[in-house]
Amino acid sequence: MLPVDWSLVVAGGGPAGYMAAITAAEQGLAGVLLLEATPQPLGKVLISGGGRCNVTHACWDPLALVGHYPRGSRALRGPFSRFAPGDCLAWFAERGLELVEEPDGRLFPRSNRSSSVVAVLEAAAAAAGVTVWRGASLRQVDPLEGGGFNLRLRLAPGLAHGASSTLSADRLLLATGGHPSGRQLASQLGHAVVAPVPSLFTLALEANPLAALRGVVMDPVGLELRLPSGRFRERGVLLITGWGVSGPATLRLTAFAARALKDSGYRAELSIDWSGGCSADELRQRFRNARAQQARRQLLNARPWPELSRRLWIHLLDRHGVALDQRWADLRRRDEDNLLGALRSSSYAVGGRGPFGEEFVTAGGVTLGEVNLATMESRKQPGLYFAGELLDVDGVTGGFNFQHCWTSGWLAGGAIARAARAARAD
Ligand SMILES: Cc1cc2nc3c(=O)[nH]c(=O)nc-3n(C[C@H](O)[C@H](O)[C@H](O)COP(=O)(O)OP(=O)(O)OC[C@H]3O[C@@H](n4cnc5c(N)ncnc54)[C@H](O)[C@@H]3O)c2cc1C
Repeated sequence: MLPVDWSLVVAGGGPAGYMAAITAAEQGLAGVLLLEATPQPLGKVLISGGGRCNVTHACWDPLALVGHYPRGSRALRGPFSRFAPGDCLAWFAERGLELVEEPDGRLFPRSNRSSSVVAVLEAAAAAAGVTVWRGASLRQVDPLEGGGFNLRLRLAPGLAHGASSTLSADRLLLATGGHPSGRQLASQLGHAVVAPVPSLFTLALEANPLAALRGVVMDPVGLELRLPSGRFRERGVLLITGWGVSGPATLRLTAFAARALKDSGYRAELSIDWSGGCSADELRQRFRNARAQQARRQLLNARPWPELSRRLWIHLLDRHGVALDQRWADLRRRDEDNLLGALRSSSYAVGGRGPFGEEFVTAGGVTLGEVNLATMESRKQPGLYFAGELLDVDGVTGGFNFQHCWTSGWLAGGAIARAARAARAD
């Protein structure tokens, strides 16, 4: 039989659990056990970033970094001032994985393969002496009077050979991601849990009036989502899809509006500023220039500015009943006003959620106020720690979700090793 008494049991073999287990073991803690319910740890890392794994983001200032977290935000200033993307870059470099920055700031492994991130984490865990049980799911936690926990596991047949389904642990770290089991265990242990809702999804438009423009990318556009509980604004790249809208600006918008959208049943009004933030005067001037310089050309063949997608321009002319073969010189004042208005603000009815983008996370989880964010230890239950997506923290797309996992895992692992040393010294 394998040991049943462990210094630290980590439930959840995702990036947060691995980072915590490796850090604790590298800092001298012996007897670290990591439980992963499925046969394949780090499953989300493998599929992340379209198979390339967007490990983190080149955002070096913790104050700027927290702006990318719709949930968490200010509370993360402290954690990010201790372990930020720069530390993450160095951490992986020390273990042989070089991260490369893309023009938009996202950082990927040089190999462009998520499997190299998995390989580094697995090698670091093995080198530090972390024991990993696959197919071992934490089902029940009973705190002991003198400290520590009794744990009950469910073991998948044939995976964790010789493992016992009842264990004891001096310390327990929950890093179960968006899976309901971790939230249930946390609430049984006295923690308030914010109900989970999806974040980072695309938007479906009712009877999608933009369907014919599928594939058009506009950069930048301004988006405003109008909901009964308020308005949310974003500016950035928009991709038109067969069902509605997607692209970074939409994902950011739905991340910040995740809860309000859920409350409205995913119905809202979406206003798009196709001009990307031009003033009324600037746009009027562009039309004046077009009239002067392309007077004899048909509207169909001459856009008011070159970056405006031709397909979108034709769509707007059509939507406002302006004849495509009309010449710029003949454009009536009323039609010009309508087109200027449409370019600055076209409204579309949001009818639901579209499919998820490349990244999907859960908003909600263990309330931050009940966790000491310097150590990630529970303020309710001594010896209990949290890391990763299980907490009520989520970031926008771009590597920010993994960064929170690296940071919270690193803080928890270090604090656990220190607490164990201090307990031994007493
Ligand atoms: C398709 C996709 C692509 C993504 N791409 C990116 C990206 O490129 N960059 C980025 O920053 N973020 C990305 N994300 C988000 C990112 O994957 C998550 O934020 C991150 O994986 C959360 O890490 P975690 O360790 O908290 O939880 P998870 O990665 O979910 O790991 C938790 C682990 O715990 C296990 N588990 C659950 N319950 C138990 C239990 N009771 N006992 C034992 N084990 C248990 C689960 O099986 C799982 O393996 C992506 C997400 C998806 C779905």
